[in-house]
Order: sequence, then structure tokens, then C-alpha cells
Amino acid sequence: MKITDIQAIVCHARMRNWIFVKVVTDEPGLIGWGEATLEWHTRSVVGAIQDIADLLIGEDPTRIEYLWQMMYRQHFWHGNGVVRSTAISGIDIALWDIAGKRLGVPCHELWGGRVRDHVRLYCHLGGGSMEKFYETSVTDYQAFGDLAAAAVDDGFTAMKSMAVPSTMPIEGTAAVRHAEGCVAAMREAVGDDIDLMVDCHARPSPAMGLRFAQAVDDYGLLFFEEPCWPESVQGLARINAATKTPIASGERVIGQQQFRALFEAAAIDVCQFDITHVGGLTEARRVAAMADTYRIAIAPHNPQGPVSTAASLEFGFSQPNYVICESVHADVPWRVDVVTDSHEIVHDGRYAKPHDRPGLGIEINEKEVAKHPFQPELLQRVFYPDGAVGDW
Ligand SMILES: [Mg+2]
Repeated sequence: MKITDIQAIVCHARMRNWIFVKVVTDEPGLIGWGEATLEWHTRSVVGAIQDIADLLIGEDPTRIEYLWQMMYRQHFWHGNGVVRSTAISGIDIALWDIAGKRLGVPCHELWGGRVRDHVRLYCHLGGGSMEKFYETSVTDYQAFGDLAAAAVDDGFTAMKSMAVPSTMPIEGTAAVRHAEGCVAAMREAVGDDIDLMVDCHARPSPAMGLRFAQAVDDYGLLFFEEPCWPESVQGLARINAATKTPIASGERVIGQQQFRALFEAAAIDVCQFDITHVGGLTEARRVAAMADTYRIAIAPHNPQGPVSTAASLEFGFSQPNYVICESVHADVPWRVDVVTDSHEIVHDGRYAKPHDRPGLGIEINEKEVAKHPFQPELLQRVFYPDGAVGDW
């Protein structure tokens, strides 16, 4: 069997352009689907997929590790930057889809079979609505409580919020008080049996991240995410050591070497690689195994499109230290039109059940995708009150 074509197919989904990767083989009807979505870098990733395709056309798609090594190591530049790594990831996911289809088994059976009966999902406040998740003011505690209660009404048992505002490297108490106010309102609204998470988007410095983490430390969060830049390994380690709440990071971390640094420093207790960025399912397996040696949990970053979700779920059925999967369902109303996903989502409790379809168990409707051609993503920029540049 040979790879005959690799296509990047862009689908504009408002906050993001989903980049679907289609790997075509010379076996009639046998194709694989992957995803390489990287918001605000769509054209770069599409170009990177075209560059890498030159290496793979004519190769045997079943030699996944061999092809991964080729994609990562050849053409001199390693695949450890996010654009190339995202392109590699999209192709790698499609190769695993082909492997499952060729053997007639779901992908999780390729990795040793199911280790669990279902995969738990968590949502964003607002379910994927950009405005409700990113633009609800942290001074409006009631709105946070109301959105959390709505997520419970929608069947979820776990949800994530953006309760930490953008802050300068050092600030007074106002932002910290607001973060605590939002978390307190959510806890009050949903009770103690629902799991809450806070995503800092790596907005704070290590010093401010520590203050935010300590301010919400008694509210029993499932995890506290990106309290400072992921590059600041010592900063994360300092925060993790000083709080009871598990610290999470990894959505902007690429490959096993960068994760090893975080694990060795005890910087995180929850590893949030994104399967569409980290190096695909091939590299995710390596990082997850390494995390397990430290008893670190896996909770993949997954606010992307439907192929990313299917890959993240298949992965979850096979990995012992996997605890929960991020999900969005209300980003665009036509999400279900572009993909048929075989994972049944049980509404009451919001968990995914395994399927027995080959590969990832998805079909992409290319006619529907074509209705949503590329558009530049909405700009999201942050400036501090003094005009200096901040983190979104
Ligand atoms: Mg995040």
C-alpha cells in the first residue's frame, strides 16, 4: 500500500479554522482523517503539511513510527516547533485512522485495547461560546455561577472557567479577589459534587499565578491550569509545591523532551498535551507513558474540531492515567453536520462510550466543509492599562 495524496482541508469555525488532514492511499476507498488546527496560524500549518507531504507520497502508510521519524527528523529542521509539530500531528492521526481501518478495529484496540468503559468529558462555561467563556467579566460573579449551573443542567459533571483576568507581572489584590469571587460563586451554584477547573491561559507571572492559586486553593478545584507561562518550568514547580490544587499545563508544550523537563521538576500534576500539536497520537503515547511513571494524570487539551475530539477519545480508552477530556459543543451550530462521529455521548453525565467502528470511527462530509471556507480568525489581543502588551 502507498500514500498517494495528502490534503489539508480548511473549515472556518468562527474562533478557529479547523484544518482537516486527508491522507489518501492507493487502496480504493481507504483514506485516513486527521486534524491540524492551530488558530491564527492556519496558512502556516497548511504550508507545513504541503512541505511534509513531499516526504511521504509513495511511502507505505502502515509504517507509522518510521514515517513519524521521517516527518520529525528529515528536512534537517526537527518538528519541535508548534507549526511543524501540528502538521506532523494531523498526518500522524490520519495514519492511525488508516491503520485501524486496514485491520477493521477501532484505534484504541491498536494500543492494547480498552482500559475503561467510558471517557468523561468536561465543558467550557457556555459550552464553547466564545463570548461566554472568554468575555464574561470577572467582576460579574453571578454570571459565572449561572453559567456553571447551566452546564450542570446540560448534563456535565465537570467544567472549566476563565476566572483569572489578564494581569501585569505584579498587581494588587483586585484581580485576585475577583478570581476568588468567581470561583466561590461557581461552587455555591453547583455544590461540592461537581468538578470545577480554572484556566489562567498563562496570563499571570509566576508570582501572580501563585497568588491566584492560593486564593482559590480551598475551593477543591479539579485542577488549576496554566498559572504562568509553560516555559517557566521553575515558576510552575513553585506554584505546584505551594498549593493543594493540582497544577495543569501542556497545551503549548511540544514533544517528549519539553514534557520531560516539566515532569522532572514536579511542575505539573495534570498533563494537558494537545494531540493535534504534541506530535500526534504517536508522540502522545510516549508522553503519556512517561507521565505515568510520575503518576501524572492526562487530561488532553481539546477545544478544536471533531477529528481532534475523536482522536482524543480513542486515546482515552487506551491510557491508564487519562482522567477526563476537554470538549466544546456549542462553538458553531453546524458542528454535527460536518462529521459523523461514532462515539455515543451520554447526555446525563456527559461521557463518551466506545465504538466498534474501524479507525477513529468518523466520516467527514466534505460538501458541508466546503460551505465554510477559510477566513482569518477573529483577532484576540490584550493590552495592559498602561498600553503594554499582555497575554490573551
Ligand atoms: Mg487552556
